[in-house]
Amino acid sequence: MKNDCLFCKIINKEISADFVMETESLVAFKDINPKADVHLLIVPKKHIRSLNQIEQEDEKILSELMFAAKELAVMNKIDKSGYRVQVNVEKGGGQEVFHLHMHLIGNL
Ligand code: 5GP
Ligand code: ZN
Repeated sequence: MKNDCLFCKIINKEISADFVMETESLVAFKDINPKADVHLLIVPKKHIRSLNQIEQEDEKILSELMFAAKELAVMNKIDKSGYRVQVNVEKGGGQEVFHLHMHLIGNL
């Protein structure tokens, strides 16, 4: 938990969000400014700034993010039609919130 981090505050329910999944290690919620019909953010509970900071010990959680994307795609009925998963890294990669997250975007 980093107390100046927006997504840590969402994870801790200090700021509300439209949650669609919560497990021991991650949450998923609707993006506040959706770029498509389905636009979810899948976020590890552990505060990791970006993909640049991942460590070997994060292997399991990184895998869980992928499986969550697969499951959420089925739940939102976009698995057959197709979807995009996106991780923005640092400012030049379009990252605005510096807590690692994966976008799941469908029905583009
Ligand atoms: P990034 O550009 O860092 O990859 O993505 C950050 C995403 O978080 C953006 O798509 C933005 O719309 C979303 N976002 C920013 N603030 C909030 C918020 O307070 N609540 C929710 N649900 N999404 C947010
Ligand atoms: Zn954080």
